[in-house]
Amino acid sequence: METVADYFGSLVFNDEVMRERLPKDVYKALRRTVDEGKDLDINVANSVANAMKNWAIEKGCTHYTHWFQPMTGITAEKHEAFIAPAEGGKVLLEFSGKELIKGEPDASSFPSGGLRATFEARGYTAWDPTSYAFIKDDTLCIPTAYCSYSGEVLDKKTPLLRSMEAISEEALKILRLFGTDARRVITTVGPEQEYFLIDKKDYEKRKDLIYAGRTLLGARAPKGQEMEDHYFGALRTRVSEYMQDLDRELWKLGIYAKTSHNEVAPCQHELAPVFTTTNIAVDNNQLTMEIMKKVAERHGFACLLHEKPFEGVNGSGKHNNWSLSTDKGTNLLEPGDSPKDNAQFLLFLVAVLKAVDEYQDLLRMSVASAGNDHRLGANEAPPAIVSVFLGDELTEILDAIAEGKPVSGRTKEKMQLGVHVLPAIPKDTTDRNRTSPFAFTGNKFEFRMLGSSFSVAEPNTVINTIVAKELREFHAILSGADDFTKAVNDLVRDTYIKHRRIVFNGNNYSDEWVEEARRRGLMNLVSSPDAYDTLLSPKNIELFGEFGIYSSIELHSRYEILNEEYSKTVHIEALTMIDMINRQVLPAVMEYSGSIAKGLEAKKAVLPQMKLEAEEGRLAQIVGLENALYRAVKDLDDAVSLAADYTGSSLAHFYRNSVLPLMDAARESCDALELIVGQRNWPYPTYGEMLFYV
Ligand code: ADP
Ligand code: MG
Repeated sequence: METVADYFGSLVFNDEVMRERLPKDVYKALRRTVDEGKDLDINVANSVANAMKNWAIEKGCTHYTHWFQPMTGITAEKHEAFIAPAEGGKVLLEFSGKELIKGEPDASSFPSGGLRATFEARGYTAWDPTSYAFIKDDTLCIPTAYCSYSGEVLDKKTPLLRSMEAISEEALKILRLFGTDARRVITTVGPEQEYFLIDKKDYEKRKDLIYAGRTLLGARAPKGQEMEDHYFGALRTRVSEYMQDLDRELWKLGIYAKTSHNEVAPCQHELAPVFTTTNIAVDNNQLTMEIMKKVAERHGFACLLHEKPFEGVNGSGKHNNWSLSTDKGTNLLEPGDSPKDNAQFLLFLVAVLKAVDEYQDLLRMSVASAGNDHRLGANEAPPAIVSVFLGDELTEILDAIAEGKPVSGRTKEKMQLGVHVLPAIPKDTTDRNRTSPFAFTGNKFEFRMLGSSFSVAEPNTVINTIVAKELREFHAILSGADDFTKAVNDLVRDTYIKHRRIVFNGNNYSDEWVEEARRRGLMNLVSSPDAYDTLLSPKNIELFGEFGIYSSIELHSRYEILNEEYSKTVHIEALTMIDMINRQVLPAVMEYSGSIAKGLEAKKAVLPQMKLEAEEGRLAQIVGLENALYRAVKDLDDAVSLAADYTGSSLAHFYRNSVLPLMDAARESCDALELIVGQRNWPYPTYGEMLFYV
């Protein structure tokens, strides 16, 4: 029988395959490029391309594509066949180093936020040799970065790679002060992915799911998640078959899909892979989302990755577990067991605290989208306020350092870094705070604000850059110090004192926290357009410029794209809602109320003395709601037509402030009707039917 080990990674041109198929010197040259960022020689590229092509053709491929991540948040590909004409009407199969290194998709149809207007329309894709090529649908996919010809980045990957370089460099400078033999620092990410599975037949009957990815209408089912019977519950057979199939497909692609379980909401599930280098984690997560949808089709499911597919039950997020590790495999966020290691650990820890405090706005911005606005702060996911959970033990240690006091129950002397060993910090998974947006979980941070449909590229670009910034500052202070140990001690203490306001170990869902956070002066950027507006503040432009992550021009383009994406999303939702109400709900309701009215007439003729309470009562109620719905959808329609008066950020704010509330109003009458109109008359599947399918 074929075992997992036999097919794991069988569709990946990974290190093992390269070693096997490339001439020794070519393999070595390629490794130098991957490990040390050295330039790639064209002869090497030719040789790699040839080996890749032969491998892919043996596996049944006919095409190749540069696989890239434009700012749409999904991946893009343009397939080219390997074929070239040969004499006598024959065919040659070709793939050159040039084709491997560079591709030229037409840039004009991808969002560029004004870059296109100012610069050349054309863009090119450039091979990212640090992420393995793989086979999908009989096509060799080559992971690439995507830029305009004038050098501006047009994708999510390039800034990420730049940020990984930046943090590696800054972290290494700090490590050298501690006397390291590491040559590189790598950020690692393990994204936990939530999703919903519903029956495809239901999905196909709902225009809102088809166009907007979420239900825009729908009354609550009698049962939701209140029985708490779904989380970690036994899997439906259909779902379990789906998960097995999904794992198999992901394993073939070399993705370490590891944990699968039911989530809190009915029909909600989660998949977590083993963590890996950030850019590979990004690629793998993009692939995972794509494969999730594909495999769902095979099982008669629709996989919903939207942040809030159903009102009234939990939405879906993505937990971005993040850490730093050296090329020797040392996790820098793992508390060590020697005084030196402890000091180094605490230094990195407070660097993250400072980064999160000073750049709350950027972290919030990096997870802002129309979809995620339905989660953040809506009593389920983390709130829109960014804060850090450290846990009691670590907080106590830092408090002791800050106040120059002993750590309770330990030494009598005050805590001194570089001299004392820290008390053990338990890597506890039982009482971990699940409400915190940015939680330290023993040896990594878990950024929990990401939406389920997000690319993890941008949030990680932000985390890497802001932490690099603090490490650079730390290095400037420490490198000039006479007494290094004392300087580290002072720096950890001062940084913690200055930024401890960002630490919150309590319940982040509570109203008291909103109040408390306001007193502490923390930001509360409730909506996406508010969050986007912080992107272009001078401090943020300076930050990204300093590390060469985004130029000011690139940031402006991103700002435009974000606002555009938000406005387009709400626009599509509004139009879909109008369409469903006008063409499905109102006709169904009118027909139903008409039939009651007809019945009423007929009954009155037969029983003139009898009061027809049920018919009259129901009819009056329905006609009242029908009128309200008619007016509400008209108001919504009018508002949408006013959108033409706005652009950019003001358009996004207009959708947020003037269109979304009208959508809520229309939904209210519509959902009230759903609860009293006959089941056979309702034009689309209800929440109950969708969430409790068999
Ligand atoms: P939980 O649901 O309790 O948060 P999971 O096991 O579902 O835990 O997810 C934990 C995730 O964190 C996994 O994807 C795991 O690989 C990842 N992870 C563990 N260690 C690290 C690390 N050092 N860097 C990044 N991610 C990590
Ligand atoms: Mg988690």
